[in-house]
Amino acid sequence: MKPCVPTLGLTGGIGSGKSTVAQRLVELGAHLVDTDAIARDLTRAGGAAMPALAAEFGAAAIGADGALDRAWMRRLAFEDRTAKARLEAILHPLIGAAALQLAAAHRGRPLVYDVPLLAESRGPWRARCDRILVVDCTVRTQVERVAARPGWTAEAARRVIAQQADRGARRAVADAVIHNDAISLAELASEVDRFMAWWLGRDGRPVVAP
Ligand code: ATP
Repeated sequence: MKPCVPTLGLTGGIGSGKSTVAQRLVELGAHLVDTDAIARDLTRAGGAAMPALAAEFGAAAIGADGALDRAWMRRLAFEDRTAKARLEAILHPLIGAAALQLAAAHRGRPLVYDVPLLAESRGPWRARCDRILVVDCTVRTQVERVAARPGWTAEAARRVIAQQADRGARRAVADAVIHNDAISLAELASEVDRFMAWWLGRDGRPVVAP
């Protein structure tokens, strides 16, 4: 069922600038549902996905703290091609259900789903969203941004990027693209402002599908 408020799917590769764009959309009055945060909540100790994950992958998937051992899961996904699909088969429906629940608190505000892997699982999100915004930048910029984070290396960043949809696949699902390369954070904020005006039809163009 289409939601009754303008609803946006926001996506982009690791380090593209999604969270920065999401934050600006919130400043402009949007209600944000962060599917990464939902995934973390589902896979914390006692999280709703943990019984199914333990049944599927065994005790080795659970860290000493009772949460999903993400490093173990990442290693398994490299070794076993089916592991990622099995993990997603458990997580994606739970993420979708939790996202809809959180979205219900929109109180009339435009709704933004931040979905890092939207291009990889586009079907359900395409149905939930009126518009899809992709934040795009070069792989080189992604690697620079991610490698600057504590605990990351350029090589680790490249490995994650190689596992995600490529830029072409992401742009193929986009209704709008923000090119977040060689622009300042202030310029990025202006791009988001321009996008918001277009999205909500304030420049006169109808942007919400009938
Ligand atoms: P992830 O997928 O890992 O969650 P992300 O796509 O949400 O990443 P952000 O966290 O928004 O990316 O941005 C990554 C880093 O790059 C942040 O430190 C952010 O401040 C910085 N950044 C993003 N865009 C710009 C820009 N135009 N100019 C300078 N820094 C930027």
